[in-house]
Amino acid sequence: MDENVDNLDAFDRYQDIIQDVLAGRMEGHKCPYCNKGELEIKFDGSRMYIKCPECGRFFEGMLA
Ligand SMILES: [Zn+2]
Repeated sequence: MDENVDNLDAFDRYQDIIQDVLAGRMEGHKCPYCNKGELEIKFDGSRMYIKCPECGRFFEGMLA
């Protein structure tokens, strides 16, 4: 059940970035965890994948 808490926390941290990506801004986002990495973002219209090349944390979600 801890996993659910983690997912909610992750969603909270990525929320601003997710909103930006949905608005079409894919570039120039810094990692909300380490603040160093520039995030790699993939979004195909329903599935979003965000990954930090520095610390390796990622977020993956369906946003349909
Ligand atoms: Zn990071």
